[in-house]
Amino acid sequence: MNIILLGPPGAGKGTQAKRLVEKYSIPQVSTGDMLRAALKEGTPLGLEAKKFMDAGGLVPDSVVIGLVKERIQKPDASSGYMLDGFPRTVAQAEELDGILGSLGQKIDHVVSVEVPSSELLGRLTGRRTCKACGAGFHVMFDPPNKEGVCDKCGGELYQRSDDNEVTVKSRLDTYEAQTKPLIDYYVKQDKLRPINGVGKMDDILQRIQAVLG
Ligand code: AMP
Repeated sequence: MNIILLGPPGAGKGTQAKRLVEKYSIPQVSTGDMLRAALKEGTPLGLEAKKFMDAGGLVPDSVVIGLVKERIQKPDASSGYMLDGFPRTVAQAEELDGILGSLGQKIDHVVSVEVPSSELLGRLTGRRTCKACGAGFHVMFDPPNKEGVCDKCGGELYQRSDDNEVTVKSRLDTYEAQTKPLIDYYVKQDKLRPINGVGKMDDILQRIQAVLG
């Protein structure tokens, strides 16, 4: 099964993807995670991407399309994958359709995680992640037992550098202008499955599972 998780930054796509991976045994393919990994390794691609990420804009389509094209052909993606944060523009979606056509594949469902925009700023700026195991927390909605320390492994929690208020506002504007048009794109393909992204994480997971079957 090939799935796209669509939604604004802060909708909880990554959180739900991590849980869906276990349930469906298909990998999460997050372009944001791939770009951050490239940056951490200090590759030229990562350093180039940083400029766009820090500004809350989008990395050029050709860069992310190349990453995804390579990733979805790896052996662990042979029975499906969950695209998280890709596509983010109509041009990326069209390219993806072309690539999938040439691979004899298709997208089965586009899960659109809906959250009112008034909630997103607070969700993003309060987000914290464990450096060691990647577990996610929120200073208000899901605080760790001890500030700055991961409940699961004791690792140090950090805030993503693009989760500051200025960059978040720019990321939300970018979403409105460049990514939201994808909703129509996938409605026309009869693939859009809207999900209410507000509520308990378990309830949202169940809503997603209900549409994926
Ligand atoms: P994310 O982790 O999905 O919030 O992505 C973090 C940042 O990486 C975004 O704000 C963009 O700068 C960049 N990025 C991630 N995915 C894409 C994409 N599909 N197209 C362009 N830029 C992306």
